[in-house]
Amino acid sequence: MEEVDVLVVGAGPAGCTAARRLAMDSHSVLVAEEHDRVGHPVQCAGLVSQRVLDLAGSDGFVQGSVQGATVFGPASAQVTFRAAGARAFVIDRAGLDRHLADRAARAGARFSVDSKFDRLAGWEDEAPVSELVHADGTRTKVRARIVIGADGVTSAVARAFRLRRPVEILPAFEAEFPSEGGDDQEVEVYLGRSIAPGLFGWSIPDHDGGARVGVAASADGTSARTYFERLVSRIERVRGRRLRNPTSFIVSGIPVGSVPRTSAEGVLLVGDAAAQVKPLSGGGIYTGMRCAEIAAEVAHEALLAGDFSANVLARYDASWKGELGGEFEKAQYLRRLFVRLTDRELDAVVDSLDRAELKGTIVAFGDIDFPSGVARALLAQSPSLVRLFPKALGALWGSRRDQLPDLDPGPRRQAR
Ligand SMILES: Cc1cc2nc3c(=O)[nH]c(=O)nc-3n(C[C@H](O)[C@H](O)[C@H](O)COP(=O)(O)OP(=O)(O)OC[C@H]3O[C@@H](n4cnc5c(N)ncnc54)[C@H](O)[C@@H]3O)c2cc1C
Repeated sequence: MEEVDVLVVGAGPAGCTAARRLAMDSHSVLVAEEHDRVGHPVQCAGLVSQRVLDLAGSDGFVQGSVQGATVFGPASAQVTFRAAGARAFVIDRAGLDRHLADRAARAGARFSVDSKFDRLAGWEDEAPVSELVHADGTRTKVRARIVIGADGVTSAVARAFRLRRPVEILPAFEAEFPSEGGDDQEVEVYLGRSIAPGLFGWSIPDHDGGARVGVAASADGTSARTYFERLVSRIERVRGRRLRNPTSFIVSGIPVGSVPRTSAEGVLLVGDAAAQVKPLSGGGIYTGMRCAEIAAEVAHEALLAGDFSANVLARYDASWKGELGGEFEKAQYLRRLFVRLTDRELDAVVDSLDRAELKGTIVAFGDIDFPSGVARALLAQSPSLVRLFPKALGALWGSRRDQLPDLDPGPRRQAR
């Protein structure tokens, strides 16, 4: 049986970030990845903020930047926002994962590909013993003082340690269209119940002449592929572009909604495994990497103290929720409002944003990692926006206005 300080399950952005931090603190770290190479298959549109580049310490995987977005309502409404400079980055997602894995390996973490966490085989000397299964069917046992579950939305680690799963997983479907010919400085967002109830459809330029077109929607019996096909028809109709010969299909899920606990005795969950995903966009790279850093700090302290009890590791829950929980809560609230909007109301909202002063606010305060700040600024600036969806507000708000979370952007959330 192999013995390590930390077993990280999953070599995505969250797992590699935690592995590097712990290896830098001289702990023995093994990263088990079920696939035969890091970064594949890609299950992501690859749109990130500057914060991801900062956390990764590189921009070597950036393919281009975007300056703005056009949002299309379900019928005819549309609104375009454009900043003077780069507002988000389109990345080679496999390249990001490889870069993070290289960095973790250089810090001393060992990687074992073709190694899938299968089950928790038991406990020895109060440390969890994990069983990994390899591509050739052989099995290895690893005794680690802490297991970090960074194994994505279907997290086998969370299930093995009996940690509750997110209430909602949005089915997602995406394809890459080469030579597609859209504007490479803008992201397109498509709203509507027939295309993407519960979230939205997107078209993101890949800066190689093509686009990543995808959709994530509430699970309601209609397949994500059906929603995707409707989205493609809609883009062709609205934009007059021909989307042909798709490549690189992605079928996956996006966890939304918090889970009660992301730690227990001997285990921490990070990234999608912990549902650390922005509820309004489904993006989880920045939040997963940041929470992985926090997890590594808590794991480091626990290793120094030799105490891996649930109480000690619960500091992780408190710490990441202290930093990001407020934003998640506000964004959840806004999403609950959003999913109640009818197509007519969605169109009215998009229409009402098409005013110079509101577009100016979006450009000034828009932040893809902390969107509640701009939402609050818009609501404060334009009470008519609130009046546009009285049913949705009424359903959520009830008669108690104090149930509305404080959407104050706060000093740290001011425009970047
Ligand atoms: C269609 C789509 C588009 C998206 N677009 C964006 C975007 O533009 N921007 C953004 O920020 N986010 C986006 N996301 C979300 C983003 O991809 C995730 O939040 C992010 O990948 C989470 O990182 P992670 O490290 O937690 O998990 P993952 O990246 O899912 O990595 C988990 C790793 O664990 C491995 N693994 C799984 N099970 C096991 C096991 N049992 N044993 C060993 N290894 C295992 C997997 O192979 C994988 O390598 C998108 C998601 C989808 C589905």
